[in-house]
Amino acid sequence: MFEKILIANRGEIALRIQRACREMGIKTVVVHSEADREAKYVKLADESVCIGPASSTLSYLNVPALIAAAEVTDAQAIHPGYGFLSENADFAERVEQSGFVFIGPRPETIRQMGDKVSAKQAMIDAGVPTVPGVAGALPDDPAEITKIARKIGFPVIIKAAGGGGGRGMRVVHTEAALINSVNMTRTEAGAAFGNPTVYMEKFLEQPRHIEIQVLADQHGNAVYLGERDCSMQRRHQKIIEEAPAPGITAEQRKRIGEACADACRRIGYRGAGTFEFLYENGEFYFIEMNTRVQVEHPVSELITGIDIVQEQIRIAYGEKLRFKQKDIVFKGHAMECRINAEDPFTFIPSPGKIESYHPAGGPGIRIDSHIYQGYTVPSHYDSMIGKLISYGDTREQAMARMRVALSEMAITGIKTNIPLHQELFMDNAFRQGGTSIHYLEERLAQMKKGS
Ligand code: ADP
Repeated sequence: MFEKILIANRGEIALRIQRACREMGIKTVVVHSEADREAKYVKLADESVCIGPASSTLSYLNVPALIAAAEVTDAQAIHPGYGFLSENADFAERVEQSGFVFIGPRPETIRQMGDKVSAKQAMIDAGVPTVPGVAGALPDDPAEITKIARKIGFPVIIKAAGGGGGRGMRVVHTEAALINSVNMTRTEAGAAFGNPTVYMEKFLEQPRHIEIQVLADQHGNAVYLGERDCSMQRRHQKIIEEAPAPGITAEQRKRIGEACADACRRIGYRGAGTFEFLYENGEFYFIEMNTRVQVEHPVSELITGIDIVQEQIRIAYGEKLRFKQKDIVFKGHAMECRINAEDPFTFIPSPGKIESYHPAGGPGIRIDSHIYQGYTVPSHYDSMIGKLISYGDTREQAMARMRVALSEMAITGIKTNIPLHQELFMDNAFRQGGTSIHYLEERLAQMKKGS
């Protein structure tokens, strides 16, 4: 096994990766910006290297500094976590060219899946169901574009091939608005992603977001770890995730899961990955693949008993998957609340010093967080400061445990979104399960009116 791994990330995921390594007897090198010097995982690391000032462009996105840190510490492999450089094919390539192992897919795979047009084509080839539309990039000819839109049927959505983070998309309801919308999306995509390629698909009105977690080794083996429902979103940002997805039958799970595992074998996928789908009227429609560990991976870990981060490391080392699909048993229900340092209802970020911290506990509760009393949440990064995760035999039990945990958890000195989670865990539609990706925003609008 690797003797030493460099963790190219920060916050809760840096700590999560560090825990996985330490459990496996692997030494860790943590890189950090000047703003993260005091972080707990930096102190717990076998070695730490300051790679630059607070600004992530100069630190966590600073490729030469990261490679140099791996060189001076003799790390053998680099774990990119999520966000930052985790889905940057050029970075993965640089890591491998410098003689280190990149804990993630091959750079070619990251590149292929990072372009939504080529990713969608690969899924069509592999037999994974995609959103109805045309496979390739949109042509320039307005008459051709109109023909395609008529064939798909309005409303349609124009999406940038290089888009990400919920940007580079435009919904079109009428033929009159079509050409103008395509042109605007093209211009924006060129400016934002350096790639003006756009494509068109059917706009689904009330879908749920359901995704499949996969693991694939370098020897042609691939399995799925079931699905997660991440429909509770605001501005395309997930805030609550759960596994399994309410109402999905074992038969549906098997069918879509096998299609994803099959696609992994076809494209030569390596590592952990997620196939994201929109789900409507009993059908799954692929939207994109994430070629990294995801924030919400713990809910899948809890219902399968598989440590996804440790498996990523084993796969990167070249080991074969230690289990077959038939060995994977889905048991119980898990839910995750993303805890953000922000105003629970205006969503204005609330960085600053944590004056007191009382974490939740008890049966079925897991907290993945790097915070502690006296820790200062820096203002330079994402506002997520941790994840509160509950597990129960049933969805009802997982929800009840989450309610208790949310009432126990106390963080003072900064604002957090815990009060919002408390409201949502009392919400009737959410309690029933199966709400669409628009539900949270509708509910927030209602709350605003009510106050
Ligand atoms: P990104 O990479 O920017 O996250 P995605 O392709 O994952 O882009 O889409 C982000 C979100 O946009 C989805 O979760 C969904 O809310 C919405 N969306 C994307 N495609 C469609 C579609 N065909 N119909 C309806 N909503 C869509």
